[in-house]
Parts: sequence; structure tokens; C-alpha cells
Amino acid sequence: MANKKMQKKAEQKAKRVARKTAKKHPVLFFVIVLLVVAIVGCCILHKKKIITIPFLNKFIPQENELTVDSKGGAFTSEDITAIKDSDLSIHFLELGNKYTGDSTLIKVGNTEILIDAGSRQNSAGTIAPYVKQFCTDGVLEYVIATHADQDHISGFVGTKEHTGIFESFVCQTIIDFPLTDKTSQVYQSYVEKRDAEVQAGAVHYTALDCWNNANGAQRTYTLSDGITMNFLYQKFYEEKTSDENDYSVCMLLSQGENHYLFTGDLEEKGEASLVENNELPKCVLFKAGHHGSKTSSTSALLEKIQPQIVCVCCCCGSDEYGAKPENTFPTQAFVDRIAEYTDKVYVTTLATKDEVGFTSMNGNIVITSNDGVVAVRCSNNATLLKDTQWFKDNRDCPQPWQ
Ligand SMILES: [Zn+2]
Repeated sequence: MANKKMQKKAEQKAKRVARKTAKKHPVLFFVIVLLVVAIVGCCILHKKKIITIPFLNKFIPQENELTVDSKGGAFTSEDITAIKDSDLSIHFLELGNKYTGDSTLIKVGNTEILIDAGSRQNSAGTIAPYVKQFCTDGVLEYVIATHADQDHISGFVGTKEHTGIFESFVCQTIIDFPLTDKTSQVYQSYVEKRDAEVQAGAVHYTALDCWNNANGAQRTYTLSDGITMNFLYQKFYEEKTSDENDYSVCMLLSQGENHYLFTGDLEEKGEASLVENNELPKCVLFKAGHHGSKTSSTSALLEKIQPQIVCVCCCCGSDEYGAKPENTFPTQAFVDRIAEYTDKVYVTTLATKDEVGFTSMNGNIVITSNDGVVAVRCSNNATLLKDTQWFKDNRDCPQPWQ
């Protein structure tokens, strides 16, 4: 009773103060009322997702959309907050053009790793803004370039209009391929920009330095409690080959029993050497070898890693490497081998016949892990490869997927 009386008194007092203020300072009163209406209005519009004010996410409880598709080609601010808050996130990026290539961002707390920056120099204009959403301090703690082909290193260089990754971020530790036979202009520019970053304070190791724990490099880097980045060995770190792809740097990311494998564009011989020289565990995630080509993701490797999720970085169905179906990614041979282990296959981009030449397939694909629970989230949609129209029109459905 006493409480109610006091509450009534307080309300009456507040009303009296408001009336007095309105009389004494009519303009001030009007401004205050306007401000309150504006703030409440913004909160309602933000909650209904009509407008987005990231700042408000801290104060308005968000629904958990961890396994829900985000349609429309971009992540919502709720998606981005949930991804940032996860223990670990792995992002397979779209590259802003019709060319196949790789760029993978890994985020563990405030530590970011960027593996490759393909597919062309103008991809820097797509990769940098995407990465900045998640790497807010402008520092990439680790940059890995798997091999010297343009579809993996061009974005590090950039163009006049689109500043390259080396210049857009402070890159602390750069790890790349010990061997290459490339003499291309883009490779030379890559070396120039990389060395400029080293002049500015970055450290540079090869994957062989890492494997050997040599020159200050480490085979294993601890990224946070229980999450490690482990460089693997394959013989083409120190043996010449005619296939540039086989020089690829290979890395295993581990969180307890959850493992995630990245092998660049490693081909059959490289994969055989990888299997021979490392105790490969079963993997939650495998970045499809060489964009889903027929000559990678071999049975010898898949038998060991038995992947649960496979992400293909390519412009699906593009005739960039010839129009024959066996040369368009992801290939039938790849699909047939992967189908033995999983149907959870995702693809970033889709080739189109219009003058733009590409659109999103799944879009940017993000794998998150929280306390070991793994979820997939895609910026366009999370349709499995086997359920896409492109697959139905262009590939035979292997028996395990039927
Ligand atoms: Zn490639």
C-alpha cells in the first residue's frame, strides 16, 4: 500500500515538473519530447529490421539465428554480431567477379588469419570491406599465401582504385610457399608488396620454416585457449614439380576434436605426400582442394579426413578453364568422391550468362563454432549443392545423394 502511494506521489510530481517545464521553457520541452519520440521510433524500426543501428544491438536482445539462412546477398547486423561472438569463425569469401579463386578469413577472438586473396587484383575491393567488418582493429595477425597463382595472390596487390590487402591492413606474420616457378607480373608485384610490409615491421616465413620451427617460425601457433593453427608437411615444400598447385601451403586448424583442413590447390601428388607425412585426423571441414577440380580431393585424402562439411571456392559452372564439364568446377569426379562422406557441400559463386557473368550461389559461407558446436551460415542461402538447380541441370546425382 505504502509503495503504491509513493509511486502515485512520484508520478504526480513528475507530471507537475513536466507541466512547469513546459510553461517555463516551451522550446526545451518541445526538444525533449522530440528526442524521446525519435529514440523510441529508432528502437522500434531497428527491432523490426526496417533500419539497422549496430549500436542498439548491445541493448536490444537479439533472436538467435545461428542456423537460419540470410537471404539477399548480405549478412544482417544480427548475423555479424553472432559470428563475431562465436569462439571461431571460418569465412569463404565471394570475390566480386566472375573468376574462380580463394580467399578465406579465420577469426578467433581478436586474432584474424587471411588465407589467400584471389581471384583478380580488383577482388581487393570486395575482400577488404568484408574483412573490415570482422577485423575492426585493422590488424591481420597472420596472412597465408598458399601458392603463387593469380587466383590466390592478386588481391594482396590490388589496383589503383582498390587498395591491396597488404596496404589495407597491418599484416603481422606472413607465411607463404617455399617454392614457385612463377615469373608473372602479379607474382612480382606480390613479392614487392610483401617485402614492403616486411620493411614496415611484418615478419615473413615460409611453410617449411614453420614445419621446421626454423628462423623464428613455429609449426604450431596457439590462437586462443584450445585453438591451434598447425602447419603440415608435404614434399613439394622442398622438391620441384611442374604443377604450381602442388607447392600449396597446407594448414590444419584444431579446436579439441574439431579439425578444419586447408590445402590450397594441392593436387593428387601433393595430397599423397600430405597423407604420407602427417597423422591426419577426421575433419569437420575441408576446403575443397583446387576449387573442386577432378585432380584434387582424392580418395586417398578423403579416406583419412572423412569431411562433414566441404566448401568449394569457385564460380560454379564457369568455362574459364574450358567448357568441357570435366573442367568446370565443381567437377563430377569431385562430387562423386565427396558424396561418399557428406552431402553438406557449399559453393560461393555461380556463373551466369548475362554480361555481369556471376551471381551468388551460397554467397559468403561462414562456419562458426561455439563450445565445439558447429553451424553453417551463408549470406545468400544455405541450399546444399545437390539441391541447387545448377546441380540438377549439370551433374549426375551420385548414389549416396539420392
Ligand atoms: Zn586456384
